[in-house]
Amino acid sequence: MKPKFDRNRLIASLVSAIVLLIFMFIVIKNRQNATVSFNETAFVMGTVFQVNLSSQGKTEDPSAELVNIGNRLERDTLSWRLDSSEVAAINASAGDPQGHELSPEMEAVLTECLRISAESDGAFDITLGALTKLWDIDGWANGDNKGDFVPPAKSEIDEALSNCGYEKLQIKDHRIYMPEGMSVDLGAVGKGIYLDSCRDYLSSGDELRGVILAGGSVLTAGEKENGEDWNVGITDPFSDGELIGYIQVGPWQSVSTSGSYERFVEYEGERYHHILDPATGYPAKKGNASVTIVAKSGLLSDALSTACFMLDSDAAVSLAKRMGAGICIITDDGLVKGDIELIHQK
Ligand code: ADP
Ligand code: MG
Repeated sequence: MKPKFDRNRLIASLVSAIVLLIFMFIVIKNRQNATVSFNETAFVMGTVFQVNLSSQGKTEDPSAELVNIGNRLERDTLSWRLDSSEVAAINASAGDPQGHELSPEMEAVLTECLRISAESDGAFDITLGALTKLWDIDGWANGDNKGDFVPPAKSEIDEALSNCGYEKLQIKDHRIYMPEGMSVDLGAVGKGIYLDSCRDYLSSGDELRGVILAGGSVLTAGEKENGEDWNVGITDPFSDGELIGYIQVGPWQSVSTSGSYERFVEYEGERYHHILDPATGYPAKKGNASVTIVAKSGLLSDALSTACFMLDSDAAVSLAKRMGAGICIITDDGLVKGDIELIHQK
């Protein structure tokens, strides 16, 4: 018997199919629009590394790879403390007339650092290794010898300074030549270089937005959902662990702050901090409590925040301007200077 054509049943099936399709469409669409957050805190390069990112739709969590990038950078490239790094190999070559062959990445970093040294009249100097070791910044910054710190003698400082000076370092035909006793310390730019690597990694993949923090440096990743600027908090140099306010920063910028409050030790009532003036060999005293720099390049913002800390505020503002960076200085007297507005917290 020929099955009877049931028109109503056919219509009902069609309607159910359409409803199912619409339902699936809505589910998939919602899934694509759902905001996924990636928040991670780790200890990388001797500092707190924090990822606060979000994405619309399906994305892999980038945190683990970002942490790996930092650990690799420290181990293979930047740390003078680890024998495995390129900086350690460079330092071991000091005094060798054959010099040492540079990787293209290291050559680019060193060339940029030397440019900033020249622009800052030597206030920023990556050849201060002998001096930073003499002051044992790492020792007391990590709390190891904070109790029995004694500042080095003037004669020791002069001796260390005789092994410093960026003008004595030469780069030629992709090789570096340094006099015996000289050692490179990239501590002032490590976190900025790290943030540059984070930016390269993030900007080539899925669309992520948010901020990444490495110690006192911040990367604004992508644009804020509402198109407004990111608010980046500025530490209160006069009040432990508190924010004094915030600055507004566009997408893919690096913000770096150097301050005398970050790492310091006290001896006989005097405070000694970790930013050393190559002109004297002693911690810089130019009336700045903190200097914040905003630039596209993390290396530049990190180097300039250190360099500008060592200049009086007018010279610092003009150096930042010359190098195309924004600056916000908080002086020891609590004044705010520079072209970036510090918005105080309500
Ligand atoms: P932090 O690393 O705490 O954010 P900075 O970026 O200002 O602070 O870098 C300070 C580090 O840079 C010091 O610990 C030292 O290793 C190195 N340094 C100190 N003085 C100078 C200087 N004048 N030029 C370049 N590097 C310096
Ligand atoms: Mg710095």
